[in-house]
Amino acid sequence: MILIFLLAFSIISDAQLRVGVARKSITPETPFWLTGYASRDRPSTEVLHDLWAKALVIEENSRSRIVIVTTDILGLSRDISEEVSRRVLAEHGMDRSQLILSSSHTHSGPVIWPALSVIFDFDREDQKTVMRYAEKLTDDIVEVVNMAFSAMEPMQLSYGRGNADFAINRRQATDKGVVIGLNPAGTVDHDVPVLKAADMNGNVKAVLFGYACHNTTSASYLINGDYSGFAQIEVEKMFPGAVAMYMAGCGADQNPNPRGSVELAAEHGRSLAEAVNTAMKGEMKPVRPPLRTSYIVTELHFRPFDPGIYRREMTGEDIYMQRRARLMLEAYNKGWDVSTYRYPVQAVRFSNDFTILALTGEVVLDYSIAARARFPRENMFVAGYCTEVQCYIPSKNILREGGYEPESSMIYYGFPGSFTEDVEDRVMDAVALVMKRSGAGR
Ligand SMILES: [Zn+2]
Repeated sequence: MILIFLLAFSIISDAQLRVGVARKSITPETPFWLTGYASRDRPSTEVLHDLWAKALVIEENSRSRIVIVTTDILGLSRDISEEVSRRVLAEHGMDRSQLILSSSHTHSGPVIWPALSVIFDFDREDQKTVMRYAEKLTDDIVEVVNMAFSAMEPMQLSYGRGNADFAINRRQATDKGVVIGLNPAGTVDHDVPVLKAADMNGNVKAVLFGYACHNTTSASYLINGDYSGFAQIEVEKMFPGAVAMYMAGCGADQNPNPRGSVELAAEHGRSLAEAVNTAMKGEMKPVRPPLRTSYIVTELHFRPFDPGIYRREMTGEDIYMQRRARLMLEAYNKGWDVSTYRYPVQAVRFSNDFTILALTGEVVLDYSIAARARFPRENMFVAGYCTEVQCYIPSKNILREGGYEPESSMIYYGFPGSFTEDVEDRVMDAVALVMKRSGAGR
């Protein structure tokens, strides 16, 4: 009798969560300009596979819920992210901390206007096309979240971990400083965190997985999700009826290896899917409520700039430096403040079972290592490329070493230059605060 009671109780307590998942294609109509490489000189006319916006809603009760959105794009712009948040939060009565918006950082997806506008020189027609896509993407993300809400049913969540070894540190030291190459001795993280949602009959409905590596295997003109697009397709084949969702980790200083073709992207996708499969066949630990969330915006500072530098860049050879210089001089002349970047940091915790720390922008691996070292008792996945992708977030070490991530990438992102030395401390202080506010350590 006691046994029956306990069994019933455990079923009821495990059934507390309701989960809904949905996906919607966000593949642009071709021809369409792709983003991620400044070297592309024409739009794409061919789709290798569809790109998706996917949404996972996890609800403890009407006040306590989270929504995770993944998108097969380079990164959301601030405009899109803010408009999606405004509409989703109003429609579903949610707090900003309960919505995670993430991007896979595929370099074979559509231009997300106005992000990285420094690398493009569009005519009026192209300009209209990319602006229309940004509006449609906003509508599509809001709609896929609504679809996931309509699909909610009781489910159980569980967590496991796999391993895929194709990521390599790309910050190679040379006589001329650090360049993008191969650094086999550098830090890597080959973990593949996996969150599974299964219905009460055990059918897998959603598989959320991550990996800390740039989505840059190929640089073709074919629209595709790069390795993570292939991985999601493979996982959906392995678990028919499930929606596979990819969240990028802190892989801003990591590249797939080898790289250079869509065939290699497919191969890395298969490795990643196999890692997910291995995790799901192994011991999956329960992920239980309560859900606790926190979202704050901290301020990061750019090093002070001298407008004389931009006046000189305006007359230089480099077209991208000229365009960035034009933006900076315009800001300077109009008295706009471009010294600060408002940086969101978010934590979503499932009791003490699992935590997603959602960091904004192109975050280097040092942050994931530092956050997990600071919260060793948290089963934590540190996601990058959340909320918006406006620039790289270098660590103190990487800032000191220099190179593309902390310095020259800022030209393409249209920012004044490098962050100040305290960037890592400021981000980590914000991490400590969101972890505390979401109940870590209790
Ligand atoms: Zn990147």
